[in-house]
Amino acid sequence: MTGLSDSFQRPIDYLRISVTDRCNLHCTYCVPRTGIKLMPRDTILTYEEIGTIVQAAAELGINKVRITGGEPLVRLGLPQLIRMLAQIDAIDDISLTSNGVLLAGYADELKEAGLRRVNVSLDTLKPDKFKAITGDNRLEEVLAGIAAARSAGLNPVKLNMVVMAGVNDDELLDFGARTISHEWHVRFIEPMPVAGGRTASQFVSVNDMKKRLQQLGELVPCLPSVGNGPAKYFRFPQAKGTVGFITPISEHFCFGCNRLRLTADGKLRPCLLAEDEIDLKQPLRSGISSAGLKKLIEAAVARKPLRHRLADSSVPKGRPFSQVGG
Ligand code: SAM
Repeated sequence: MTGLSDSFQRPIDYLRISVTDRCNLHCTYCVPRTGIKLMPRDTILTYEEIGTIVQAAAELGINKVRITGGEPLVRLGLPQLIRMLAQIDAIDDISLTSNGVLLAGYADELKEAGLRRVNVSLDTLKPDKFKAITGDNRLEEVLAGIAAARSAGLNPVKLNMVVMAGVNDDELLDFGARTISHEWHVRFIEPMPVAGGRTASQFVSVNDMKKRLQQLGELVPCLPSVGNGPAKYFRFPQAKGTVGFITPISEHFCFGCNRLRLTADGKLRPCLLAEDEIDLKQPLRSGISSAGLKKLIEAAVARKPLRHRLADSSVPKGRPFSQVGG
């Protein structure tokens, strides 16, 4: 196996798979004001179709997959998909991004099926604010999901907080303090603009977040650098956990991009923040060979743009993040 690399010599070894566009929460930063038109169910890839795509991708050099959505745990039988992907030889890391609402009921089964780790979205520790951001009153279930994931042995459990000015930025220090007293790994994310979204006026830069967090102590970089994603990790002195920062806007991380995205309706997307997509579903349903499928995957890799253009106000209009997986 020679591995995949794009036209800018970036190695591509990671596939993010959205298994559904359905979600049991409706976060203000994710769902456009106009709402979302759901995909017809028969356009959503079956687990077998996802397995066929991952097998072909793995033979080309993909070795890490992340399952996302929508909310992946609202799709029935998710552990069955994890089990199927875990049996593909070259895949050595399967992770999940979830809002955590249903996680408590699934954590043991997911771990047993082959899931290694999980990222949970948690934007606030206050019940009323949780409802204002997500549209529902389910903070307790999310906290129970995080606890269950940890006791199931999913490791690490990372918490993603989209930091929004005037919405939850007053909780930065609360989250930071939790990383000192508990083994919490919190990643603070700059809100990205979405077409029809509400985040434009809520931007908080990572530099601003860091300044505020330093009231809790010095942020010491974690060395050697951890993870293979866009986050940069730090630790307060004596802290049990870590803080990470994800800066899609103020300091884009496209030069280290190692990923492709598969939408729930079978489109391979070279970049989260560009409209370009290559359809795999129709060719699959018309009986394409494994060699043909691999050519399409290679074509998607070749079409990866050098970088996104959010800073030039180029916001993708086609799909909300709930369809692409964030
Ligand atoms: N339902 C799952 C969840 O809540 O984690 C998975 C899907 S969600 C679209 C995946 C990630 O996208 C979440 O961690 C969320 O923080 C991130 N996300 C969605 N919209 C965003 C935005 N406008 N800016 C920054 N991050 C965003």
